[in-house]
Amino acid sequence: MQTYAYYNGKFGKKEDINISLNERSIYFGDAIYDAAVGRCDRIMWENEHIDRFYANAAKIGITIPMNKNDFSALLHEVAIKSTIENYFLYFQASRCSTERTHSYIGSSTGLMITVSPYKIKRSQAPLNLITFKDMRHGYCDIKTVNLLPSVLASTEAKRQGCDEAIFVRRGTVTECAKSNIAIINQGRVITHPKGNRILPGITREHLALACKEIGVPFIEKRFTVNDMMKADEVIITSTTNLCKRIGRINGINVGESESSVSKALSELLYKEYKRL
Ligand code: PMP
Repeated sequence: MQTYAYYNGKFGKKEDINISLNERSIYFGDAIYDAAVGRCDRIMWENEHIDRFYANAAKIGITIPMNKNDFSALLHEVAIKSTIENYFLYFQASRCSTERTHSYIGSSTGLMITVSPYKIKRSQAPLNLITFKDMRHGYCDIKTVNLLPSVLASTEAKRQGCDEAIFVRRGTVTECAKSNIAIINQGRVITHPKGNRILPGITREHLALACKEIGVPFIEKRFTVNDMMKADEVIITSTTNLCKRIGRINGINVGESESSVSKALSELLYKEYKRL
């Protein structure tokens, strides 16, 4: 099934939609985005994704030309029009201006939405990851399309036959190219604190809630590569994977066998998806 799309009032197959050369997302990556999964007319953690989208737009001064309710209605309209049952929903707000100048005064907003087939699988197979130097900017909390370091890190992971790349900044594990990362030690979940070095993942938030539900401490504290390699378990979280265990990092086995803690956490998150 083909990807369905919306761009500034036009609906259609992705291939049939032309975007404007006034798009500053092309020249400067001057855009923010968000992404969710959904089934039919239900979008998982919809309000949280829309709230983050609006908050990120506000942080860099992009005005989304409608209120959150109308935007939600638009997302649903595109999802329904796509006729795709289980999907990945991407939405982006960019700045547009007639001149290619770095400053953006007097710009308008471009809105893009795509819907493509996607279903989360409940796979138990642990993932293989690599580490990669975190050379990203100081705006990692903003979900911007400035993704060159993540593109390079993900490509290197794929080249090595791995699933994800872990960013490491001066020995500290921050997050992954497309996911947040946590270690589990003595029944406690430890993950990098929020701030400008990581994206505050919505799944990370739900992991914290799941920890609360099963009475496991959720600790926001920095940890090193060494801590990670010695941890009882390593897990990653994201909208598209929910919660997955890591089996190998840079070709070295990490963690012990699946603990009741990680099992319960991934079950709880998967249940939320199944309830959609
Ligand atoms: N960190 C980065 C860099 C990401 O790209 C993502 C995926 N959007 C995440 C973390 C996980 O965020 P979420 O749980 O909201 O998908």
